[in-house]
Amino acid sequence: MKIGILGAGISGLAIGRMLNDFFDVQILEKEHIHGGIARTRDIDGIAYHVTGGHCFNSKHNDVLDFVFNKVLSKEEWNKIERKAMIKFKSSEISYPIEFSVKEIYSFDKELAINIVDDFLNCKDDGCYKNLDDWFRKKFGNTLSEEYFIPYNKKIWNKDPQNMSPLWVEGKLPIPNKESFIESLLTSATDKMPHSSFYYPKSNNQNTFIDALASNLDIIYNTSINTIEKDGLNSSQWVINDKFKYDLIINTVPLDILPNLIKNCPKDVLHAATMLEYNKVTTMLWETKATKNTWTYDPDESSLFHRYIHIGNFFNPVKNVCITEAIGKISYEEMLLNGKKDPFLIKPLDYNVSNHAYVVYNKYYLESKNIILQYLNDTEIYTLGRFGEWEYYNMDVCIKKALILSDKIKNISNK
Ligand SMILES: Cc1cc2nc3c(=O)[nH]c(=O)nc-3n(C[C@H](O)[C@H](O)[C@H](O)COP(=O)(O)OP(=O)(O)OC[C@H]3O[C@@H](n4cnc5c(N)ncnc54)[C@H](O)[C@@H]3O)c2cc1C
Repeated sequence: MKIGILGAGISGLAIGRMLNDFFDVQILEKEHIHGGIARTRDIDGIAYHVTGGHCFNSKHNDVLDFVFNKVLSKEEWNKIERKAMIKFKSSEISYPIEFSVKEIYSFDKELAINIVDDFLNCKDDGCYKNLDDWFRKKFGNTLSEEYFIPYNKKIWNKDPQNMSPLWVEGKLPIPNKESFIESLLTSATDKMPHSSFYYPKSNNQNTFIDALASNLDIIYNTSINTIEKDGLNSSQWVINDKFKYDLIINTVPLDILPNLIKNCPKDVLHAATMLEYNKVTTMLWETKATKNTWTYDPDESSLFHRYIHIGNFFNPVKNVCITEAIGKISYEEMLLNGKKDPFLIKPLDYNVSNHAYVVYNKYYLESKNIILQYLNDTEIYTLGRFGEWEYYNMDVCIKKALILSDKIKNISNK
């Protein structure tokens, strides 16, 4: 069986590797190189994550097993402890904020007491009108208004009142009342998978991505423009009037894909127009020294929502960081904003991405399901952050690829 994979990001490469020993696999990629949004650009020996800083870990043992045993052995990775901070009221406190109320107490007693009072008294009935409501019911009004709502307004470029709360499950460490009180009385913190993480010993994530791509047949500089069934052999798919496959797996964003499929129904094309995403603009900087791995900034007076101290992922460390801002921001605006922060010394490079963040607007679930149902009915498999239109990290893309590759192997054995 010949399988065509559309897109050579982490998802396309991962499923390609999983199926390559069993089928004739080919990947079509529009860029001159593989890796998609996880790929880094080399700037004088610094791995610049142009679409925003990345690190790897997973709570899924089968994902860790695949990565460390089939792609890049565990000896090739450094394990790094997360030291994430939040800029908060002219100070810096540890992430996650709900476990750092003791730190807030050291400089603003009244605020810390209000946070605790609200947290312990907020009622979570499990029904949420929107993301704003979700934060208030989980964390109380004070913590929501001081941190969660302004930070989320910034990263989504949208009022949380106009957003669905569906994406947050599993993405944020959510303390219950017991663990919150424990954090006030002890030094307990959260147990999210990214409280420590892996980064390649080469000091470049591309080592992992290149290892994932090894032995795969990837046709580069090939933008997919048309997808249709073969007029002579209707069991086959034809891409760009040229490439023929028995089965195709898509990883191209769902807001684009329906427009490429011949005779795609109008309601599916319409659903694609309702999907919204954010770009991210990044700037690589030479900086002063820091021990942090990354810093969040909820302050609406700054464009940057996050600083990734990528130089602390390297061994030996380098004083460099990536600042991230949502949307398309000009070089001059990024520079001007950076000049307000004496920590940032000199810009080294700049990038505006295409797809970076799925936006969970009110229509996303219904629109996405219309498209997924159509792809299911037409037997086009779809995978990945924008191929499934979900806030997936690399490890979840790999997890989903493991599930899909098993399904395809099972179907072909029948
Ligand atoms: C700011 C930011 C920070 C992140 N941090 C982390 C992190 O720390 N850890 C982590 O695990 N994950 C992180 N992620 C998530 C991670 O980047 C994604 O989960 C993963 O890279 C998605 O891979 P993908 O293959 O699904 O999508 P993509 O990388 O988008 O791959 C899709 C591929 O399809 C190609 N393509 C698109 N259209 C066409 C076309 N018409 N024809 C041919 N090819 C096409 C693209 O060029 C691309 O190569 C982060 C993401 C962002 C935006």
